Amino acid sequence: MSILGQLCPAPRLLLGPGPSDAHPRVLTAMTTPLLGHLDPQFMDLMFETQEMCRQVYRTKNKMTLPISATGTAGMETCLVNLLEPGDKAVCATMGYFGNRMVEIAGRTGAQVTRIDAPWGKVFELDQLRDTLKAVRPKVLALVHAETSTGALQPMAEVGKLAHEFGALVVADAVTSVGCTPVEVDAWELDAVFTCSQKGLGCPPGLSPVTMSERAMDAIKNRKTKCQSWYFDLSLLGTYWGGDRAYHHTGPISMVYALREGLRIVLEEGLETRWARHQRNHLALKAGLEALGMQYTADPKHQLPQLNAVRIPAGVDDLACRKRLLNEFGIEIGGGLGDFKGVAWRIGLMGHNSKPSSVLLVLGALEIVLKGAGAKIEPGAGVAAAEGVYAKG
Ligand SMILES: *Cc1c(COP(=O)(O)O)cnc(C)c1O
Repeated sequence: MSILGQLCPAPRLLLGPGPSDAHPRVLTAMTTPLLGHLDPQFMDLMFETQEMCRQVYRTKNKMTLPISATGTAGMETCLVNLLEPGDKAVCATMGYFGNRMVEIAGRTGAQVTRIDAPWGKVFELDQLRDTLKAVRPKVLALVHAETSTGALQPMAEVGKLAHEFGALVVADAVTSVGCTPVEVDAWELDAVFTCSQKGLGCPPGLSPVTMSERAMDAIKNRKTKCQSWYFDLSLLGTYWGGDRAYHHTGPISMVYALREGLRIVLEEGLETRWARHQRNHLALKAGLEALGMQYTADPKHQLPQLNAVRIPAGVDDLACRKRLLNEFGIEIGGGLGDFKGVAWRIGLMGHNSKPSSVLLVLGALEIVLKGAGAKIEPGAGVAAAEGVYAKG
């Protein structure tokens, strides 16, 4: 076999549902020479990373650590540690990732009750209350930012409600952390997970998880061992807790990356970062709507970091996304599940939430949509976004 060429992919602007582009400082941090994973210097970096995860999650939870794998590993960690055969769980599902929680919760041997909101909608508190009252589950699991529909589930009151019925709340904050408010302690959330590659501006590979004391008590009171050895928090806690006992080899370069990504988030400040995501969302939204595109999520509950819009009638989904990628180097996401072929998903996450991303993707979309025969007014999208920025 001949020797392959050096790795040199064409540059991309990653405006899909993730991964988003890593911040250049994160990529630089990843080239730092390796340390041993039990090296005292690395242990200090682990403490620092955990402490910054707490700040970003707005929690004092002792059990706060990045799981060595992608966001789904955080989901699995929360569910397999809290649920054992015979337990009752309620999964409130409003899209593709809610379905994934149903699937994982079911595999623990728990009895899963699933309730559904139509795709693009969110749950009302009353609906959750009725279900909690009827089922009395150990766990209520729901997605905060449903990336498949672009809907943001209000969470501020959910923890308190669940605790009235003795249930623990598992929240998927994979797409919300670093983009929109996530207040783990104030919202009384018990088990929350996110990922490195969306709002935190790092490559995929780590999944920060945080567990309340309530959740840790439930784990201590399990009758059976956790079904997963790798994700067993009672074992992982010894590596990420004070003992630093070997469990698995820490992914050193990814911890460097996350440490730098979290530093960048905290330097900017969470409130400033949330406001930045909102501003760029409003500009993109004005632009997309000027091109006649409609959001799939309820207007009161749209995610700023993930703009899911209906593909205009008669426009070829794949051909348009291919043109965006090949001619403009821009990746946007296609639809998932019920929205496959129906929606496009434009992410403005972390480092990528900036005016240049908004104006570039709108300009490219205008050209591509026009070419695909859509009835649009060229220039209208970019002008509408510029108008939003001009207002300050
Ligand atoms: C991306 C995503 C996940 C899965 O994360 P991976 O890093 O792909 O494993 C889970 N939940 C939501 C809401 C997501 O957007």
